Amino acid sequence: MIRESLDQFGRKIEYLRISVTDRCNFRCVYCMPLEGLDWLPKADVLSYEEITDIVRQLAPLGLRRLRITGGEPTIRPNLDRLLEQLRAVPEIEDIALSTNGVKLPAMAATLAAAGLDRVNISADSLRPDRISKIARRNLGFEPVAALRAALDAGLKPVKFNVVVMRGLNDDEIGDFARLTLEHEVHVRFIELMPVGDMAGLTWEHVVPSPEVLERSGEAIGALNPVGGPAMGNGPAKYYAASGAAGTIGVITPMSHTYCGTCNRVRLTADGRLRTCLYGDHEVNLRDPLRAGQPMAPLFEKALAEKPKEHQLLQMKVGGLKALSQVGG
Ligand code: SAM
Ligand code: SF4
Repeated sequence: MIRESLDQFGRKIEYLRISVTDRCNFRCVYCMPLEGLDWLPKADVLSYEEITDIVRQLAPLGLRRLRITGGEPTIRPNLDRLLEQLRAVPEIEDIALSTNGVKLPAMAATLAAAGLDRVNISADSLRPDRISKIARRNLGFEPVAALRAALDAGLKPVKFNVVVMRGLNDDEIGDFARLTLEHEVHVRFIELMPVGDMAGLTWEHVVPSPEVLERSGEAIGALNPVGGPAMGNGPAKYYAASGAAGTIGVITPMSHTYCGTCNRVRLTADGRLRTCLYGDHEVNLRDPLRAGQPMAPLFEKALAEKPKEHQLLQMKVGGLKALSQVGG
């Protein structure tokens, strides 16, 4: 019998983000220090078989949708092998990938054939010199080439994640909006979350979503609210110019929380189940799994402790309180 898993606040948990590596070939200014992190030793990282074992055990409890992420998931060898294994779990309806897109032109067809349904590509700029400045690596990433590769492989819908930073890339809001006129792409502007080691980025670099929408509308004409792209029941709100092939979405972690409707949990590369994407609460699954213990009771215990909401808005980062009161 198919069951549902509810957390202590009655939220149905059906979506698992799986980090397959903590490593990355980029060093985005808002995400990772230039020198990298203390990477996990290989033995600590879950094997593909272990990840699949966890998914197989949790799927009967209500898991339906998976997202493969990192770090940068495409740099872990043989990612297609993991996708094949996950695709074979009968309860799983949807498998998505979050990637910086660098390797997508080479890998999209293989990943699609292995069972990937769709892809989110991080694309903070359309200008090569600026991509290198934000990612602090020059790997020849071309967002539109990655988009074409994904669409050609049937990985739909394709979403672009654009972290908007004032003074760094906010002058490209209009260019990204214009992309949606011709291309079947769902551009999601994300409010920068000024947390951790941010290479000098502060709340002053955050561009609130109402401003992003206004500037998008100035570039492509009136925006009408639309339903999200198929399989998008995440936190974005979507809009489109009339006749556009794609949509524009905004994700506003800093000015609103979505915690009341949160349906997701996260598995770290070393096998910790985190019940809030932005919090510290976690349960170690790897060691019990390796000791042959069942996963379901641990999952249920973790859900019982899933926090009501994340703590980003409570952080004393100057100005965020004002930002959190911005409407739209
Ligand atoms: N490497 C993959 C990628 O870049 O899509 C997957 C992992 S990455 C951490 C997932 C998403 O988190 C990306 O879209 C990235 O832009 C976003 N992200 C990371 N740090 C962020 C921050 N400080 N503020 C807003 N978004 C952030
Ligand atoms: Fe972080 Fe993704 Fe950028 Fe890598 S590509 S540094 S994981 S946001």
